Amino acid sequence: MGGLRLRYLILDLDDTLYPRRSGLMDLISMRIGQYMTERLGLSPDHAEALRREYYARYGTTMRGLMEEYRIDPEDYLAYVHDVPLDAYLQPNPALDQMLSRIPLTKVIFTNASEEHARRVLERLGVASHFPIILDVRRLEYSNKPDPEAYRRILRHLNAQGPECIFVDDSTRNLRPARALGMITILVDGDSEEDEEVFSVPDILAIEPLIQRLLSERNGDLRD
Ligand SMILES: [Mg+2]
Repeated sequence: MGGLRLRYLILDLDDTLYPRRSGLMDLISMRIGQYMTERLGLSPDHAEALRREYYARYGTTMRGLMEEYRIDPEDYLAYVHDVPLDAYLQPNPALDQMLSRIPLTKVIFTNASEEHARRVLERLGVASHFPIILDVRRLEYSNKPDPEAYRRILRHLNAQGPECIFVDDSTRNLRPARALGMITILVDGDSEEDEEVFSVPDILAIEPLIQRLLSERNGDLRD
């Protein structure tokens, strides 16, 4: 397995390709709360308690609401991502250039919708790098950190874990990837305790690490 070439760079979207401090996810989080109070008639306190419970038990609020409230996931996804993201995100030419220099197929793996992912990628100016977006719909509504979502990713890509580098801002989302043999990189995360995780402060800092991994694993390409 260790002899497999790296082929895929699999990237989380929100709070990974753009910084947490943008505030976009805070806004989406507020929309999730609004969905629960307006669409489902829950009190704000009840909604908040359920979100904590669902995050722990199901990985996402959406999955919990699908299981326990039988919500329509498409209605949910459209509602929570109905945000003016151009006010929160700016084009990132440095990210565009960095992605151009990394000779791997880039894939988005997101618990959000493909529509949201495309809007974010367009706004950042990096959409052309991502021929493949694997969103929660294409993963049949399985989501990170459910290991089934990662197995579906590998099936879609016809890849094995050790052929992939996976980048996410959540330690919790990295573990199932590592269990499948992927190399994992934490961006702007909170992991001090987990030495197996490569950790970088922001997305642009993945490049030297990836170039080193490429020369170690795919180096014979250059001979
Ligand atoms: Mg994220």
